[in-house]
Amino acid sequence: MKLIFATANRGKLREASEILGPEFELVTPADLGITEDIPETGETLLENSVQKAEYLYERTGMDCFADDTGLEVDCLGGAPGVRTARYAGEGHDFQANMDKLLREMAACGADAPRTARFHSVVTLILGGRRYYFDGVLEGKIALHKAGCGGFGYDPVFIADDYPDVTLAEITEEEKNAISHRGKALRAMAAWLKDHQA
Ligand code: IMP
Repeated sequence: MKLIFATANRGKLREASEILGPEFELVTPADLGITEDIPETGETLLENSVQKAEYLYERTGMDCFADDTGLEVDCLGGAPGVRTARYAGEGHDFQANMDKLLREMAACGADAPRTARFHSVVTLILGGRRYYFDGVLEGKIALHKAGCGGFGYDPVFIADDYPDVTLAEITEEEKNAISHRGKALRAMAAWLKDHQA
């Protein structure tokens, strides 16, 4: 089955292709000549994922899906949340985002809880109708960056499932098996398989 995935992030595309498996052929907006930034101006993860999926559906009329992910840190009242990608500014600079996160958490004091979670919301548009899926990965924020795998905030996120290392220190396969996006996309794949049977 052919689906457009609303991403320009090669890391996310590779993860999604592995999670969904060979039954799904993922096409990116760039493959279709859509190279502009897709707007993400919603106040919630759900609004953003709907906005991105609708943007592609309106331009292509093809079945498509979009995800929006937020990192929710308890001692920061759930921030950066919907602003996760732009936490340190519009540049989407992963290093600057992580540096800001570590600074803000240091300012909360040494006793502040470091618990956090990634939350992914996926909107699928199939035959013009919308369907929603989500996934959560619980963990905590490390004191320092470690590891060079993955992308985004992986070097500072310690998942409860692998309490001694960051997400950037486990394999892609290990991450996909537990990740927020993995859970949401597997839920979507299972639903699609049932729905199309
Ligand atoms: P988006 O909604 O997928 O664009 O994700 C928002 C931001 O969350 C990204 O820019 C990344 O910094 C971060 N992010 C999303 N998924 C992950 C992940 O699996 N690991 C680390 N950071 C992530």
